[in-house]
Amino acid sequence: MLSENMKRMIYMRKTKASSVREKVCVNEGCKSGGKLIPVQRFRKGRHVCRACCSKQSIQTNDRRINRIVEERLLASEIIQQDEIQFANLLYRSCERAIKSRKYSKNYVNVTCDWTDVVAMMTDLICEKEQFWNEWSKQSTTYLGSDKQLSTRPTLDRIDERGHYTLSNIQMLSYGENSKKA
Ligand SMILES: [Zn+2]
Repeated sequence: MLSENMKRMIYMRKTKASSVREKVCVNEGCKSGGKLIPVQRFRKGRHVCRACCSKQSIQTNDRRINRIVEERLLASEIIQQDEIQFANLLYRSCERAIKSRKYSKNYVNVTCDWTDVVAMMTDLICEKEQFWNEWSKQSTTYLGSDKQLSTRPTLDRIDERGHYTLSNIQMLSYGENSKKA
């Protein structure tokens, strides 16, 4: 026979276990609208669901990049106010070109002439007028197409075996770049 105390403990453990199968995401703008959602949609110990977490980190990253673009490129008049979004896209691509060697096997043998993202952008914008014109134009298409990936501007290495250097970089849309590979 189980003691009353024991029965109560088992009951409590059961209700405790079942009560954590669902919880509420504390982010006000959550799609769940404040309703209970399965705990699988949360990372362990978090009170903001996975969807909101990744959305927040995307927004944080976007703000980080815009701040750099404004402080270092707009302030020094390398770009104009209406080019901030184009520069934001270029920042991401340059950052990837500089860092990709570390993270992707396909890029182990590819070197990049720059180690600083803003320095790379400055050279591309100031030294390659046609590149920047094409980048801006393609960015407008991309942003106007609700960010359809095939239209995103990318940094293409003209000679695939070559590196990221000023003379070996051109703008291609993601779609064109994929076809080339
Ligand atoms: Zn949420």
